Amino acid sequence: MEIAKHRVVSIEYTLTDDEGTVLDTSRGREPLVYLHGVGQMIAGLEAALTGKTKGDALRVRVAPAEAYGERDDALVQTASRAQLKGVDDVEVGMQFQANGPKGRQIVTVVAVDGGRITLDANHPLAGVPLSFAVEVVEVRAANPEELKHGHVHGPHGHDH
Ligand code: ZN
Repeated sequence: MEIAKHRVVSIEYTLTDDEGTVLDTSRGREPLVYLHGVGQMIAGLEAALTGKTKGDALRVRVAPAEAYGERDDALVQTASRAQLKGVDDVEVGMQFQANGPKGRQIVTVVAVDGGRITLDANHPLAGVPLSFAVEVVEVRAANPEELKHGHVHGPHGHDH
């Protein structure tokens, strides 16, 4: 069965940047299971997977525009310590979730200068070309309930 819209796809993947640093991998965990063609997967990787079948292996380099977007300098802003209530020891490199214009987003502390804290709300992988090594583990049709919910149920998928 070929990967197409509304198929449930299981993949093993390893994600690296251009320096070869492993950013994420399914190895040693369960395969990643997702519903194809509904925007759950990074656009550039989803496009590369379309038409592939079980057992296929591929390598694809995805430009930022087809992954987590380009960096936006307007998303780097300063805040006072008082605005970061609940965060005790603010240090450079700390990440936490905050509510932003695009919903929940990861915010990274990039500088601390006395009481002023510089926060970067760009996705940590914004502006980073992503290289995926992928193996297709399984492809199956989604069942009607999965299509209605817009996500995968069952082993390694969503349980409820
Ligand atoms: Zn559901």
